[in-house]
Amino acid sequence: MKFYITTPIYYVNDIPHIGHSYTTIAADIMARWKKLNGFDVFFLTGTDEHGAKIAAAAKEKGKTPQELVDETSAQFKEAWKLLNISYDRFIRTTDADHISATQNIIDILFQKGLIFKKTYEALYCVGCERFYPEKDLIDGLCPFHKTKPVLQSEENYFFKLSSFSDALHDMITNPAHKEHIEIQPEERRNEIIGKLKLGLEDVSFSRAAIDWGIPVPFDKKQTVYVWVDALTNYITGIGYPKDEQLFKKYWPADVHLMAKDILWFHSVIWPAMLLGAGIPVPKKVYSHGFFTINGEKMSKSLGNVISPQELVDKFGVDAARYLTVTLIAFGPDGDISWDALTNKYNVDLANNLGNLISRALKLAEKNFDLKVPNVKPDLELAEKTAKILNEDFAPAMDGLYLHKAAEALQRALTEINRRIEFDAPWKLAKTDLQKLSSCIFSYLQATDLILIHLLAFMPALAEKIWTITGASGNISETAKKYFADKTIPQNGFSPSGAQLQSPGVLFPRIQNGGK
Ligand SMILES: [Zn+2]
Repeated sequence: MKFYITTPIYYVNDIPHIGHSYTTIAADIMARWKKLNGFDVFFLTGTDEHGAKIAAAAKEKGKTPQELVDETSAQFKEAWKLLNISYDRFIRTTDADHISATQNIIDILFQKGLIFKKTYEALYCVGCERFYPEKDLIDGLCPFHKTKPVLQSEENYFFKLSSFSDALHDMITNPAHKEHIEIQPEERRNEIIGKLKLGLEDVSFSRAAIDWGIPVPFDKKQTVYVWVDALTNYITGIGYPKDEQLFKKYWPADVHLMAKDILWFHSVIWPAMLLGAGIPVPKKVYSHGFFTINGEKMSKSLGNVISPQELVDKFGVDAARYLTVTLIAFGPDGDISWDALTNKYNVDLANNLGNLISRALKLAEKNFDLKVPNVKPDLELAEKTAKILNEDFAPAMDGLYLHKAAEALQRALTEINRRIEFDAPWKLAKTDLQKLSSCIFSYLQATDLILIHLLAFMPALAEKIWTITGASGNISETAKKYFADKTIPQNGFSPSGAQLQSPGVLFPRIQNGGK
């Protein structure tokens, strides 16, 4: 079983912020989750480096476009290293193999008669790098940038997008279609279907006035439209057309992840290009909403942009990953604030998870010389935890409802903590050592099960705590085995007699206020 997941390639006129981090962390968690479930995963991310906006930004900074894209692309790589992102390839649209592969697909479309030349005059938004028909503007302004598009006229190569309306409509609306494209969430899917019903207009696939881009192979005076160049990364990143074996192994993509503003390109233009070239279409296109920060749009001028470094400085890498993708629902728009992130950190991690670990280990330290007590294995609490996670966590993960998966984890943690309150093990030290042994053993096994499920969210910390709780074997290998057969080892994950470690303060409480 293979699983191919992509993030958008990020446009390098911006430096990495929480918006990019959100999509990339979500993709990384999904990639890790699928690997733990036995899939052969390929995870692609990268940077989109061509276009008029980049050329203009470079000029403003007194740099060549190449210098600018090299610098910014490196910043994205750094950010993903910081956030422990496990991509298989970081593609840059200035990579030589991408350039020749993009020319290859344009050539195929041209040879199939799907690309033709015409003079065009229309309204162009430089922010979006696209033409807008008048009807798609809101009060004459770009719906995303709220700026007035400029009238541009030039002779371009056009793609016969209009001839794909019916085919795309069928593929998107008919789940039984052998090349069904699933679009999520539902609301966005309906918007796309609505537009398809109105019919599609042919789109310009080249520009004449821009030289920072990929030359059109059959007319070097023209440059490939930056969106065509960008979308093609999803196949060039896995070897199209030269490495046929790699390409055939992973294509079609299982999920393209993105924010809602670029859903149109991914669910209409991209599948049409592929259909035209005789290449299978992606299986699922999934868009998430926009963020506001404290109710306001994130912007440099408001100074409320949240960088990956700031998140890591405040919460640490693993907690930053967990918080970024679980604070708001994946799909609709949502509001983020430092206080909301801090509250979630204190409730989910410092209280629920941190307290559980420190309680179990303190009891073992005080009464059993920091060893897992010797008892007949009692797995009832772990089985109960497993039930919650199997029913609610796993399906949420598979559907990319990461906030729901986190809710299931927290529900399981709450149940374990309730059990501890009920057992009142601190009283048992004087009255019933046998029962205390059994309690501590139970808490440890349930905690280990939580760690296995947290692993995709918090890879380094889950592994660290796995050692602290005396669990045996490598956590990833144990998790893979567990997800394959959903069976808790007979002697538990942390067997009797195993050495525990003093946890120290894993999740120090953080004060509200400020960054
Ligand atoms: Zn725009």
